[in-house]
Amino acid sequence: MAPLQKTYGTVGQQQQQQPSTTPNNEGGVSFSSFLPSWKVITAITITGLLTASTVFALPYHVPPTLSRTLSNGTHEYHPTVIMISLDGTVNDDLDLSITPHLSSIADHGVRAQWLTPSFPPITFPNHWSLVTGLYPESHGIIYNVFYDPVMNDTFNYKDPSHSHDKKWWGGEPIWNTAVRQNRTSGVIMWPGCSTVFDGDLKPTIEVPYNDDMTHEEKMALTLEWLDMPIGERPEFIAVYIPQIDQAGHRYGPYAKQTLDTLHSVDASVGQLLEGLAARHLDDIVNVIVVSDHGMSATSKSRLILYDDELTPNELSMIDRIEGYPLLSIWPVHEEYTEPLYQAFLRLQKVHPEFQVYKRDQIPERYHFQDHVRIPPLLVVPDAGWLMGTHDEYPDLDAPLSPRGTHGYDNLHPESRAIFVASGPFFEKHYGSGSMLKPFWNIEVHNLVADILDIEPAPNNGTLKGRFEKDE
Ligand SMILES: [Zn+2]
Repeated sequence: MAPLQKTYGTVGQQQQQQPSTTPNNEGGVSFSSFLPSWKVITAITITGLLTASTVFALPYHVPPTLSRTLSNGTHEYHPTVIMISLDGTVNDDLDLSITPHLSSIADHGVRAQWLTPSFPPITFPNHWSLVTGLYPESHGIIYNVFYDPVMNDTFNYKDPSHSHDKKWWGGEPIWNTAVRQNRTSGVIMWPGCSTVFDGDLKPTIEVPYNDDMTHEEKMALTLEWLDMPIGERPEFIAVYIPQIDQAGHRYGPYAKQTLDTLHSVDASVGQLLEGLAARHLDDIVNVIVVSDHGMSATSKSRLILYDDELTPNELSMIDRIEGYPLLSIWPVHEEYTEPLYQAFLRLQKVHPEFQVYKRDQIPERYHFQDHVRIPPLLVVPDAGWLMGTHDEYPDLDAPLSPRGTHGYDNLHPESRAIFVASGPFFEKHYGSGSMLKPFWNIEVHNLVADILDIEPAPNNGTLKGRFEKDE
């Protein structure tokens, strides 16, 4: 996405964005066409093109915060969205009859055949894509750990004091888009939620990441927030739940322990739905449940030890490797890119189960080329394959770890994420029990903005928050 990348080229500099009017290569829509009619008209007013005769034809301009309130019988509410991420939940798991409450959301609302993660289907890039509507090449969070050659600095998601710095994070998360438009937001542990942006923009309420809070406690806190008075009560709530991903890595995506974890998290979603019903909020609050990516099972039979083929001289040309299970390679010198590329082509003759690209060869459909943080060489193993050296796998008789992983081709069926949602917005636009055609997670920002009745931040989405039904 060249136009947006240029806009967000210097990550962390949240300048006033001028939306691109260049149609994107999805054959999509320009940003100006996203604007609701009153916003277009406001823009026209500002440019002084309004004539007296058109004034009377204008709809009355209602500021978003006053647009409408809803009542549950005792209290007033603004349109409200709760978005929950179940990290690492595989789309096919919704068909295993172990998630009755997620099924209930789909039955009363909508389900996407699947949600396509952005490339690479890794946690931090995709959580940031879900809330900003930007591809990782546009927002700059390209992996969980990455080097920035301009800053000469490394982002590491496990180092909060450093990774929370706004300099890393491009784009605007929907919780700040809301706050900027006088709305309120509350975020529980979603990646990026502890970063404070220019203008002191941050969620109205935020719970930083910690390992101790259970998913039941997160649902209970969400309900507590809904009991706050209007004006203080968050109208956009994001909740991050890591346990299914952790189990998937440890035991594998199809292991009983992983599916038990999913079942238990589903029960806590049920607890939330029960709390909404008890408060008569079914017709007021919209609930969206997503995952960031799927998960593939690993196996010793799908392990490539690349130092069997690459020579010690070739291996010494590698400075650092990022993006596990990808091999995203920074060579010691830029001119080592070609010999390393040739070395992996040679390896491919023995082990064809991966693709190798120089940066400018990375397929367009990945939208993963145009950022200084993307290294010169990218090796993409086939789904479920691991690549490493004998040093990394010293005992081939030992049990393989991890048993599950993700980060492969984002279009592979095992990479698919989940999307289920219910509430008045979905009832109105799609009807109960609708199946939606698959869409990319960069479309979610516009969807949430649409429900909250706020103007979205500039983003890569093209569907304007409207999805096609699969009929
Ligand atoms: Zn994840």
